[in-house]
Amino acid sequence: MKVHEYQARQLLVEAGVPVPTAEVVTTVDEAMAAYQRIGGQVVVKAQVFAGGRGKAGFVKLCDSADKVREAAQFMLTHRMVSVQTGPEGIEVKKLLVASAVDIESEYYVAVVVDRGKRRPVVMVSTEGGVEIEQVAKEHPEAIIKHWLHPHLGLLDFQVVQLVRGLGFVEKEQMKAAGKVLRGLVDAFYKYDCSLAEVNPMVRTKGGEIYAIDAKMNFDDNAVFRHKRLQEMFDPSEENPMELRAKEHDLSYIALDGNIGCLVNGAGLAMSTMDIIKLHGGEPANFLDVGGSVSAEGATEAFRIILADPKVKGVLVNIFGGIAKCDTIAEALIAAAKEIGFNVPVVVRLEGTNVERAREMLEAAKIEQLITAEDFTDAAKKVCAEVA
Ligand code: GDP
Ligand code: MN
Repeated sequence: MKVHEYQARQLLVEAGVPVPTAEVVTTVDEAMAAYQRIGGQVVVKAQVFAGGRGKAGFVKLCDSADKVREAAQFMLTHRMVSVQTGPEGIEVKKLLVASAVDIESEYYVAVVVDRGKRRPVVMVSTEGGVEIEQVAKEHPEAIIKHWLHPHLGLLDFQVVQLVRGLGFVEKEQMKAAGKVLRGLVDAFYKYDCSLAEVNPMVRTKGGEIYAIDAKMNFDDNAVFRHKRLQEMFDPSEENPMELRAKEHDLSYIALDGNIGCLVNGAGLAMSTMDIIKLHGGEPANFLDVGGSVSAEGATEAFRIILADPKVKGVLVNIFGGIAKCDTIAEALIAAAKEIGFNVPVVVRLEGTNVERAREMLEAAKIEQLITAEDFTDAAKKVCAEVA
């Protein structure tokens, strides 16, 4: 799960990180009113689930009411296209009007899960700002890393080494930068983050330290235990298909190819995608109906897969264990009746109640339905159909 910058800022403020005052707005008038309250120089920032806003023109410094109006007007009426969005860009529905700071230097500060080492890692760099991906690629030595104990978190000696690594030597500033690091790590642990990033943390000309951008991603499997995060969930920023699937306890992942995959179980989903690729095909998505799917849930699964215009063929690969093959057959028949199959659907069923399922499918005489002998046969057939 992701949240907007303004929400991540709230969580950081609560963790003791110094963040400039800001207000969230949804209209030009509200932006003007926020500017009047905040005063001085402000920065108007699009609130979307994508970075690269600065370079795309969706982070604007404004020192007058006219400039705020112009910036807000522009951002709310143009889709933002950045290196992190597709060419179609994304709609901007909310803006942050933040008190601007006078930047002397920018730093990169982040915590992510290092899967290889199976623990979180804090990364900092003096090359903060808008080019951190390039720094990571071309000058990995410019990024200082400290791995964290899964329970103990950030230790005092690590804070000292990290802030020294960023070039802070003066005591008050070391303390202030340390506060950002500690707060970021605290929030990371508290909310089961997979990523917590401040880019940039800045030192102002007056020597103050602030976090002026914030990004947090959370482990979906832990969201159930954080009411706070559930309240922050913004469905309007999610892939509508994935949302629809989630409502029915199905997991749907959109991909780039043209073969829709309906499977039960994550392991079977992985091997189904592998075998499709082995035979020259490309999955358009996979939808995992899970172990204990109802006919209704499975019918919804077909609706979701078939609603994707990229899908030119479907592979249904079910190993009936807890899920029964006849339940899937029932859903297939219901979906065929209700929506009709506009593309070939190759079906491979195996396991509990498979004989009954085969009889049902045979009797239903569904057009476009192709039965397969086994896993390989199914993959070959669906690849041939979309070729
Ligand atoms: P991003 O491009 O999506 O990562 O958006 P950021 O919030 O990181 O802003 C991009 C850049 O805009 C920053 O790296 C800063 O250089 C600049 N910027 C953002 N806020 C301020 C501010 O308050 N004052 C000044 N002078 N520059 C800012
Ligand atoms: Mn940034």
